[in-house]
Parts: sequence; C-alpha cells; structure tokens
Amino acid sequence: MVKSAVKVVVRTRPTASFASKNLQIDLDQKTIEAFIPKDNTQGLINNQQEHWKFQFDEILHNSSQEDVYDICGREVVHSVSEGYNGTILAYGQTGAGKTYTMLGGQQAYKFRGVIPRAISQLFHEVQSKPELSYVIRVSYAEIYNELIYDLISPTPPSDQSGSIMIQDDPKYGITLRGLSQSIVNTEEEALNQLFEGETNRTIAAHLLNKNSTRSHCVYTVHLESRSRVESSEKVTISKLNLVDLAGSERTKKTGSEGLTLTEANYINKSLSYLEQVVIALSERGREHVPYRQSKLTYMLKDSIGGNSKTLMVANIWPEPNHMEETISTLRFATRMMRV
Ligand code: ADP
Ligand code: MG
Repeated sequence: MVKSAVKVVVRTRPTASFASKNLQIDLDQKTIEAFIPKDNTQGLINNQQEHWKFQFDEILHNSSQEDVYDICGREVVHSVSEGYNGTILAYGQTGAGKTYTMLGGQQAYKFRGVIPRAISQLFHEVQSKPELSYVIRVSYAEIYNELIYDLISPTPPSDQSGSIMIQDDPKYGITLRGLSQSIVNTEEEALNQLFEGETNRTIAAHLLNKNSTRSHCVYTVHLESRSRVESSEKVTISKLNLVDLAGSERTKKTGSEGLTLTEANYINKSLSYLEQVVIALSERGREHVPYRQSKLTYMLKDSIGGNSKTLMVANIWPEPNHMEETISTLRFATRMMRV
C-alpha cells in the first residue's frame, strides 16, 4: 500500500457558537461526523439529514499555537534541517484561521504561528551542529491569478507583469528566476523579512484592489550547509515552504465580496490541481505527476511527495452557518489523504 504523500490534520477555529448539532468530533478516534439537513425544497420529508464520517491523522480542536506546532510542524522542520525539503500548507475558507495558523496573532509571543516557530527551530537546529557551516536565505512569493510576485523586493506597481519564472534546474531543483532571496543571519532578520513581506502584501493589495484571501503566499526558507571538518566540497541544500493558501470558498460567493470570476476560477483551479498532484503522488509515485498545471504545484514540485515531508492543516470554522464550507474542506482534506 502506498502511503499518502501528505499528512493531513484538521484544526478548528475556536468559536462561541460551535455547531454542536452538525458536528461531532471524537478526539480519541480522530473522527469527525457531520450532519446537515437535506434540502426540503425537493419534496424530501423533514428532518432528513445527510451524514458524513471523516477520519484524519490528527484533529486539533481548540488547540494552542504551541500544540499545533509541536504535534505536526516540528517534525517537518526537523527533516529540513537534516537536508530534506518540506512543505506546510494551510487550507480552508476565508476566516477559518489559515493566517492565524501560519503567522499567528500579533499581540503576544505565545500566539506566534507556524512560520515564526519554524524559523526559530531551524536556527536552533543548525546552530547546534558546529561541524557545519550554513547559509540561510528567505524568499516570499505571492501567486495571484497565476502570476508570481515578490513580496520582499516588490516591483513598482506600474510593473505588475509578474515576470517571475519557475525553472526546473537539474542541479538546484525548482528555482524562481526573478524572485529575490535575502541572506538572513539571525532569527530576527528572517522575521523582519517576513513582516516586511506582509507589509508589502497589504500595500500591493490596496493598489491593485485585491484581497489577500485571493492569493497563495509562499514563504520559503532555503538552507545550504557545508561540512567544516571534511575537506569535500559537498553542499547540502534544502528548503521549507510555508504556504498560506487562498480561501477555498465556493464561487457562488463572487460578487458580494467583490471576488471576480477570474479570481475565483484561478483559485478553484489551482486548489484542484494541488489535489490532483497529491493524489497522483499517492497512486503513482513521483512519475507522471501533473505538477506543471499551475504555478503553485510547479513551485512545490521538489518539496512535495518523495523524501519531502508535507503537512496540510485543514482549517475549519465550526459555526452552524459555515457548515457547507466546513464539509467541503473536510472532503478536500480526506481526498488529499486517500491511500
Ligand atoms: P483566514 O486566514 O483563514 O482567512 P484568519 O487566520 O485571518 O483566517 O482568522 C480569522 C480570525 O479568527 C482572525 O481574527 C484570527 O485571529 C481568528 N482566529 C483564527 N483561528 C484562531 C485560533 N485558533 N485561535 C484564536 N483566534 C483565531
Ligand atoms: Mg488569511
């Protein structure tokens, strides 16, 4: 049996009005049962319900940022420090907690999300290996309507041609031509680049009248290490992609929130290509995987499946009025881990 290429965990956003009639979470069994009333307009009798039962690797219900990181983020980051590529993605409808999961709350240290914790862990891990010399670089890309933008060194708003190109280099793997990489010597410098990227993202969003929930954001930490003791020139290169995906809500919401059909189509397509890639990896191994169908999957080509550890956090907002989106997210997550 081929194992799923991706570890999938579900995280709930804490809420005052938990949909207790619709959702039953069993933390021991790691299952979620969902019930929604069937549509009565088609002559069905009242009280008929649709019922789903989902099984996951892990359910993080009302979990702290620290628990989320320790339970599922830490091992991915560790394997990057050992020279493998890794990817952590946050999926879910807008408002479900993707950005909170990846970046975290701004107020207090303990609310830090996956990205700041990953940066911290990586620096600690490499510094604990004095036999290695290393260089750490970061880059921060935004994919909007299938064009890639640099969030750390943005091009002027007049030039929004999205000229960053993905290349599949035989030696270096996937590289993004035109995307800046900044060398960071400390955890703090890496965080500063992240926050600068966040600021640029907000500014660009205003200028282009786009909302950050409509783009995928990929913060990548590139790690390059050499042995100080051996004379060999061997360099180990690995990277960690930390991805805040575009909101997964359905297209019917266009209009009301100014989401254009173009934006919605790009988002729906790229999320469905992501799904196709993960399923192909689980079924067929690394050959014949349709990475090139979208910028997102192409960018992640050498960091998903195979030796790369990949984690997807499916964020849900378990309120009664978000049941449809919740079920849609749970179904997506289940398809991603089909074995
Ligand atoms: P998304 O990025 O998926 O659109 P956000 O991360 O912006 O959603 O979350 C929406 C709101 O809910 C934010 O105000 C965020 O602080 C809050 N929130 C989300 N998840 C949590 C959580 N696990 N604990 C506390 N607050 C959360
Ligand atoms: Mg967000």
